[in-house]
Amino acid sequence: MQIKILSDELASRIAAGEVVERPASVVKELVENSLDAGSTRVDVKVIGGGVKSILVIDNGMGIPPEQITTAFERFATSKIDESSDLISIPTLGFRGEALPSIASVARVAVVSMSVGASYGAKYNVDFGEAGPVGKIGTPQGTRIEVTDLFKNTPARLKFLGSSGRELSRVQSVLATLALVNPDVAFNLVADGRERLRTTGSGKLIDSMAGIYGEKIADQMIPLESDASGAFAVDGLVSSPSLTRANRTYITISVNGRYIQSRRLSYAIEQAYHGFLPDRRFPLALLRIRTPLEDVDPNVHPAKAEVRFLREDLVFSIVQRAIRGVLSVSAPIHEIGSSTTVASYGSTGTREVRISSRQGSLVEKSDPVLKTVQTKSSEIEDDIASKFYQSGPTPREALPVLRVIGQTHETYIVAEGPEGLYLIDQHAAHERVTFELVKHRYDNGGSEYQSLLEPLTVDLSPGLMTTAQEHQEDLNKVGWRFEEFGKSSLILRSVPGPLSAKVSADGAAEVLVEVLDELALGGSGDTWNHRLIATIACHASVRAGQVLSIDDCKNLVRQLEGAVRPNTCPHGRPTIVRLRVNDLEREFKRR
Ligand code: ADP
Ligand code: MG
Repeated sequence: MQIKILSDELASRIAAGEVVERPASVVKELVENSLDAGSTRVDVKVIGGGVKSILVIDNGMGIPPEQITTAFERFATSKIDESSDLISIPTLGFRGEALPSIASVARVAVVSMSVGASYGAKYNVDFGEAGPVGKIGTPQGTRIEVTDLFKNTPARLKFLGSSGRELSRVQSVLATLALVNPDVAFNLVADGRERLRTTGSGKLIDSMAGIYGEKIADQMIPLESDASGAFAVDGLVSSPSLTRANRTYITISVNGRYIQSRRLSYAIEQAYHGFLPDRRFPLALLRIRTPLEDVDPNVHPAKAEVRFLREDLVFSIVQRAIRGVLSVSAPIHEIGSSTTVASYGSTGTREVRISSRQGSLVEKSDPVLKTVQTKSSEIEDDIASKFYQSGPTPREALPVLRVIGQTHETYIVAEGPEGLYLIDQHAAHERVTFELVKHRYDNGGSEYQSLLEPLTVDLSPGLMTTAQEHQEDLNKVGWRFEEFGKSSLILRSVPGPLSAKVSADGAAEVLVEVLDELALGGSGDTWNHRLIATIACHASVRAGQVLSIDDCKNLVRQLEGAVRPNTCPHGRPTIVRLRVNDLEREFKRR
């Protein structure tokens, strides 16, 4: 075969394959054009999932009549010019490929009235065939209708899903754009039925309510960061009581552009570490602002991914901001709330109070948390003063509870101002022990229990490496050991809280478990958390263990003293509440 240069028409159809994959990608490109044109209203109508027809109407600045044909040329754009570095691009589009690509695989009819023009223009391109430009009277803005998508490329048509499936993709594209652009009023009508509406009030909480509903919006916590720096993040993140089974409810924008980033989503999930149960994900709507030259948007044909110059910095800003708000607003779980979102009260679930109560965390007569080798009351006072400080960050606080007793050898029953409370004895003790060990760890003063007879612990080769790597941190929590041959350790001491609960052999098993955890990797903060959480887990009372009423009271007092009393270190609730109101309703008193 001879080498030839492809015709423009064929080149466009090839390019269209990258830009226009399905109806949702057409909607994305058209709506992004509307946004780039400064629209405050964007109305979208689709028929048959968008395959039959897509109509986008905006009130943006319009296309001047003499430029309307140029807009459909390949690589025709008003958004960048020769001087552009292709990095600091403030608009969503810049490649000049969308309109020609769409017009090469569909019938496109455009009507546009540009600001300052004396008449509107009308122009059609059918499967790459351009028609004449006509004059037309029309309100300011642009109206583009795309029909018979992929009719000339049956192979592509075959790859599309059912019209319902394609519609749901259109919906999610538009939902994302609406979430990221709260100052624009969006509307989607599919086959005559309204599917989505936002008000364009400019408030994130309103676009959240428009997309996910009021109930969910009510449970979002505003995220604010110091906006003075060049890097900033704000937005909304879900309270830990509201979770989802996947990551699709995490929406991120960078300088106004919606992006997908597995690594950033992961950073967000990590920020929830310890707040959410395993395999549950938060909802989040984050706006990241960076200097324009710090992101490269030109790395993906649909511009869905960007490259950050200082990725680690962006991640740490995001994580810090989220952890900051979570640590002050983890609510008490309502009974019944974990099954459906709908059963949440709209506002009453979030209970953040600043506690200025005085008291000491570790009571001297504490039978539950009795530890070997307690290093005098100094540490306790130190902890108490730390936990009870009324610093700038308010902490979660439990209401004052009156302990009634224990049930099923697992739960402590208590009453409080707002109802009946059940406390999971293991989760609660885990939380208390976790904070104690963590505090000591952070202050370099962990207690340890020396073993009377050093113990040999055999390890697999991989774990041996992990043990060597993390020896310093393991020492810091109380594990002292030295290597013995290629695959064994001689264990000389174990963490104090652990020694009170398990035998030396048991403690050795916990060490192996900890090493397994550490071998999973993760960065400093998270594996630190896991390390201490594992110790706390094994050092805590179990479900099924009988506690005296005094044991129960002690544990509840300690829990009241914790910084985050409402969840255990793994993110499960420590305490659930049955509201008096709900009781009255159940008993038909009201
Ligand atoms: P790009 O968005 O990458 O510039 P497009 O092919 O999507 O390329 O659009 C080409 C040009 O057409 C844009 O640069 C813009 O000037 C104009 N245009 C397209 N859609 C609109 C619209 N809805 N309102 C105003 N101008 C538009
Ligand atoms: Mg565009």
